[in-house]
Amino acid sequence: MRLTTRIKRSKQMIRMVRPVELTTSDLIYPIFVREDGKKFEIASMKGQDYFSLEDAVTTCKKTIELGIPAVMVFGVLKEKDADGSTALQKNGFHPRVFRKLKKELGDKLVLISNLCLCDYTADEFCVYTKKGKVLNEKTAEMLGKIAVVHAEAGADVVAPAAMCDGQVRHIRSALDREGFEDVPVMTYVKTDSCLFQPFFEAMTLSKTPRSGVDSSTFRTDIINEKMFMQKVDLDVSEGADIVIVKPALTNLDLILRVRQEHPTIPIAAYQVSGEYAMIKLLGENGHLDEDVLLLESLKSIKRAGADMILTYSALEAAKLLKGKA
Ligand SMILES: [Zn+2]
Repeated sequence: MRLTTRIKRSKQMIRMVRPVELTTSDLIYPIFVREDGKKFEIASMKGQDYFSLEDAVTTCKKTIELGIPAVMVFGVLKEKDADGSTALQKNGFHPRVFRKLKKELGDKLVLISNLCLCDYTADEFCVYTKKGKVLNEKTAEMLGKIAVVHAEAGADVVAPAAMCDGQVRHIRSALDREGFEDVPVMTYVKTDSCLFQPFFEAMTLSKTPRSGVDSSTFRTDIINEKMFMQKVDLDVSEGADIVIVKPALTNLDLILRVRQEHPTIPIAAYQVSGEYAMIKLLGENGHLDEDVLLLESLKSIKRAGADMILTYSALEAAKLLKGKA
């Protein structure tokens, strides 16, 4: 008799037949470090705090203790300027963060630098624009220069988030030219999404974050798989070492597609701020068990083909996976 229930009879057997498993090694924790040194809860992302540099070190130590191999660093500056030129200061805030974390933590934690113009420019656009048009080459060239500053300061991996064409090519050649051939490029490929909104609010210095930006001119149309894969193909051909699919929840099929089309490229998926907020809210309102939903969502991302997952819930997830929560 054919029965599918035989191997589901015991919990051990269920474990034994799993083709993939979610572990703490899969997790990457994104952290927000403030130049003004203030520590408080991020209003748009309840449960997540901004850190001072000192707090960031403490949190990174916790991250290591929980078995998580990497953090993604977001720097929140006190001031931004028109062209984002402070990004190139060797003693700017971002390099100071990498230097400090590298000094305190050595190679126990992989430091990933989120590389984007919006961290530095007053208009908080991810790209340079002229009359509404994306200036690909100018943006990519600047990202290459910033990548060198971050690598010099101790960033182990650089992750260009601007979604401009040529970003990987410019960054790769800038890093190679300056002797950082061994620093990988982890490129973001994003669909246009409202799920980024709580993050924008967390990173912005203005009351109306990124108003006037038409992000559909540089991110991809959510319904168009071909448009997404075209960008993945370009970035891989330019030398990307890792591809980040962002957001995760709405793009599980695209994670699988990248895996099928580029089977040798490691894939990261970013469970973004909107996904984080949805899980938190459903739990807080008592509609369902937040911990169960969190693990379910992460397991579905892993099953879809992600080798690593960026999530604001990394610390909670690691505790749950270790059976200590
Ligand atoms: Zn950006």
